[in-house]
Order: sequence, then C-alpha cells, then structure tokens
Amino acid sequence: MRQGELFTKTRREAPKDEVSKNAILLTRAGYINKEMAGVYDYLPLGLRVLKKIENIIREEMNALGAQELHLTALQDKNVWEKTNRWDDANLDVWFKTTLANDKEVGLATTHEEPLTNLLTNYISSYRDLPLFVYQFQTKFRNELRAKSGILRGREFLMKDLYSFSRDEKEHQEFYEKVKESYKKIFTRVGIGEKTYLTLASGGSFSPTSHEFQAITDAGEDLIYITDEEKKEAFNKEMGVKEGKEVKAIEVGNIFPLGTRFSEAMGLEFKEEGGNSAMPVMGSYGIGVGRLMGTVVEVLSDDKGLVWPKEISPFDAHLLVLGGEDAMKRADEVYKELTNSGVEVLYDDRDVRAGEKFADADLIGISTRIVVSDKSLENGKLEVKDRATGEEEFCTLEEIIKKLK
Ligand code: ATP
Ligand code: MG
Repeated sequence: MRQGELFTKTRREAPKDEVSKNAILLTRAGYINKEMAGVYDYLPLGLRVLKKIENIIREEMNALGAQELHLTALQDKNVWEKTNRWDDANLDVWFKTTLANDKEVGLATTHEEPLTNLLTNYISSYRDLPLFVYQFQTKFRNELRAKSGILRGREFLMKDLYSFSRDEKEHQEFYEKVKESYKKIFTRVGIGEKTYLTLASGGSFSPTSHEFQAITDAGEDLIYITDEEKKEAFNKEMGVKEGKEVKAIEVGNIFPLGTRFSEAMGLEFKEEGGNSAMPVMGSYGIGVGRLMGTVVEVLSDDKGLVWPKEISPFDAHLLVLGGEDAMKRADEVYKELTNSGVEVLYDDRDVRAGEKFADADLIGISTRIVVSDKSLENGKLEVKDRATGEEEFCTLEEIIKKLK
C-alpha cells in the first residue's frame, strides 16, 4: 500500500482529551479514533494489528482442539435470570435496553449463560464431551472509569473460550493446557518476557483463578512476583505480600467454573454407566484490544510505536529519498517485495526526509527499508530494525529471505 493512499494522517500533537500512552500514540499514528470515553474505532492500520493478534490467538485456540463460533451481542433476560446475574447487584456493568414490545434485553458482557443454555440442545451423552468452544466477540461493559485508552473499553473485542468436561480430572487437564497456550500467545505477541501467571481470587465462581498479568505502569492491578524464572506471581487481592510488588495489567484470565452454570441451565449428560451428570466448566478470556494496547504500553519508545514482527501492521515500511532514479528503483523494490508476498507500506510521498523518518518511527512498522541515491551506488538497501535500532545494508534478495 502507498502511504499517500492511507486516509489517516499522523499528528505531531497529542490529542487533548487523552492521558494514556496507548491512546495518545495510537491516535497520533492514525490507528484508532475516539468516539467517546472508552469507545474507539479501529482504523486501517489499527485493524491490521488487531487482526494479526486475533489470528495468533485463533491458531492457538485451534491447536487446543477448540471450535470457533459467534454468539449474539443481544442477550435474553430470561436466560440470565436463571443464574441471578441479570440483577445489577450481581453484575454491575450491564448495558440494558428494551425492544419495541417493551421486552428487556441485555448487551453482552460475557457469554457463560447463553452458551451453556444453547448447549442443552446439543449435549446429552458422555460421547458429546469434552467440548471446547471459543469466539471473538464484542463485549459491552458500563465501566466506571474509562481513561486508559483501549486497555479498558466500554465496548471491546474479547476472545472467550469455554470448556465442558466430563469430570474434574478432565477439566483440570484442559485448564493446564490453556495455561501453556496462553503463554505461547503472549510470547508470540511480544510481551512474553513481561507476562506473569498470577494466582488470583475466583470471584463468585471459585476459590481461585489465574490471571496473566503484564507488567506496566499503566496497569491497574498490583501483583507480587514470587518466581522470576517461572514468571509466577500473586495478585495483591489474595492477601499475600511476599516478593516484589509491581503494577500490572490483566491481559487474560482463566477460571474454573465447576458445575454452577451447568446446574443453573439444566445442562446434563448421560455417563457411560447410564447415570446423569453435569459438565464441569471453565472459562478463559483474553481482551484482544487490551492486549494490543498493552503491547504499546510495554514496547513503545519516545519516538513512537514499536511492533514486534508477528503483529506489525506491515512487514516493511519502504521509504524513498532522493531523485527520479531513486524513485524508479524504489518502485521496482516495492513491486518485487509485494510479488514475493511481503506486506509493504510504501512512503513515496513528496515530503522531507526528516518527516518520513519521524513518521516511520511513530507508525512503528518492525522493519524499515530506505532506497536513496546511496543505494543506487552500491546496489544495497539500508534496513533498520525498529525495535533494536540496528542498521545494515542488504540486497533485495536478502531482505525478502529475512521477511518471509
Ligand atoms: P478487569 O478486572 O480488568 O475489569 P475482568 O476481570 O472484568 O477484567 P473478564 O471479565 O474476565 O475481565 O474478561 C476477560 C478479559 O477481557 C480480561 O482478562 C481482559 O483482558 C479483557 N477485558 C476485561 N474488561 C475489559 C475492558 N473493559 N476493556 C478491554 N478489555 C477488557
Ligand atoms: Mg472488569
């Protein structure tokens, strides 16, 4: 894509109504647009990153043997009344609305109730289990504070996975597998080094749960690191106060749910011996937008965004500096890269070199390639790694090899 065709433009000034680093940088670089507090649009660059993160998560969910579905955002009050979670006293972030016939409906905050209810139509035998299903779906939550950019939205994209197992042992095996799967996801997204498996309270569901907490000053939680090597910690809410205290943000969590929802919805199956039993459940969330915002908080520098290769909106940012000859060569490079399947943002705009460099730093694409009069002399192109700042001169073939 040619940069001049991108309808978003970079901005030098921070938006006046933002205080969080992720919102400031993502807005300045043209990735997101604020509709109102906690409600953001994802613009073409932002959507590319979001989709790449989504795809990493999808690959890891599929590797667990989970099946993808998509449940509705409008939810039936009757179903939620079965667990008493329709009551604002029990779930305090509801957005509720009414249909033309005055019937009340809710906007999805989470999906344990509707999914468990739906499965009563499909699960009846031990042969139907275990079952693992997940989705990427928009959640609505009337969050009290929404000052953290895309870290805490009132409308946000969540990946939610649910497990239905035949017994506690089968549940536990899957729960452990999800822990490993989540570690892979956070590593692939680029924050593995900063993310800790954190023992936390299970809220109203269970005595404990596990959170994946990424260390950043933008975080709202306090955790105590107990094992640096294994990357393990306790949430302060557990009342533990040993280890190093740090601020962190919850990028994902995993919950044992027992049979609480199965029971409330009447989800039962026949065991091999003919007895009736209830599936043991678990739920496993990741905030996709929050994860993107966390990468910004953790990895960006004073010049702008820094995307790891796997989630960079483009594989390479191609800049041309110089006259007609350089332009001609850059056009060829652009064509060859694109034909080789490399995703390129091509800055062929007629602006000063300084402006191109500043924009490239702000936009944060993982690899920058410069075609200049100098490269015409020695036949090599200047390649710079956005994260490390390392520069080298490479032939086009070497670059293609590196980026594929
Ligand atoms: P928090 O304590 O931060 O409010 P939560 O415990 O309410 O999170 P869950 O309901 O378990 O979170 O949601 C699963 C995941 O969705 C969280 O781990 C987080 O990554 C993400 N998430 C939760 N609330 C938001 C939000 N308002 N905006 C963006 N992502 C969110
Ligand atoms: Mg919450």
